[in-house]
Amino acid sequence: MPTALLDFPPPALSILLFPFGLIVGSFANVLIHRLPLEAAEDRNVVTRPSHCPSCHAPLRWHQNIPLLSWLWLRGRCAACGWRIPFRYPLVEVLGGLVAAGSVWVFPFGTLIWWKGLLCGWALLVLFFTDFTEYFLPDAIQFPLMALGILFALPQLFWPETTVRIWTTGNGILVVDRWANGLQPAPLWSLLGEAVSWKTSLIGIVAGYGGPWIFERLYVLVRNAMVKAAGGQAIEAGMGMGDFKMLAWLGAFWGWQAMLFILFGGAALMVAFALPLIILRRAGAQTLLPFGCTLALATFPAVFYGPAMWSWYLGAMR
Ligand SMILES: [Zn+2]
Repeated sequence: MPTALLDFPPPALSILLFPFGLIVGSFANVLIHRLPLEAAEDRNVVTRPSHCPSCHAPLRWHQNIPLLSWLWLRGRCAACGWRIPFRYPLVEVLGGLVAAGSVWVFPFGTLIWWKGLLCGWALLVLFFTDFTEYFLPDAIQFPLMALGILFALPQLFWPETTVRIWTTGNGILVVDRWANGLQPAPLWSLLGEAVSWKTSLIGIVAGYGGPWIFERLYVLVRNAMVKAAGGQAIEAGMGMGDFKMLAWLGAFWGWQAMLFILFGGAALMVAFALPLIILRRAGAQTLLPFGCTLALATFPAVFYGPAMWSWYLGAMR
């Protein structure tokens, strides 16, 4: 019998966590809608009550229940009949799935679980702000950088803390509470090394600085070549938001995972952009949401990065 909440098996925890995730997903919709707005008072996500983005009619409490209200209202605003974009229920369900899925890939109640959960929700918001507005808000990314460093600190003070968790089957595993292992999920027996404050700090500096240097070099070289040909110079090759995203992901998962995310995100971007360029739907000037592919690349990087790296080293031998 489970004696504490920590000891509940993943299916029970998933059912308990899903509604909380729906509520977080509902708040994610508010962030996605309001943070890219121009006016400061429109960006208020704390005290401004929920309203219809189309007619600005305030929502009654029963019109603001995640997922259920959307189903009840048949996807339309009760006041003006505005068709609520499918994105709204989708983000709510994804928020719920992040919470429900988190306990299958990270041991519930451990630091790595909190980290995975917050990272998943943050990526949900950033994916959609970048997808809809080509915008990655500082209001989220700077606190995430600080949080990534803070997550690495408890292990300095309590290195020996352990916790019992359920594994697949009926086994119980005693793990280091602060183990931030970049482990292939859900095989918790393969808990990797913790993300230390050093790998976290290097992750921030390299995540922000590394691409920044490449970007500056690219702009310099490109402008020199273009100028020689009599063309127009450009200001930037990549968005600053992308560097900040790599910085906080580096703070969360260490610089090694950050490199995987950078190369994985770039590879995905090429995979999506090439067909568009071949079909002439996109040119060299087309804006592409790099934050979206960085978000997608985070999952394989965190779960399978170390496994892929050791496979690569073995194949090179
Ligand atoms: Zn309305």
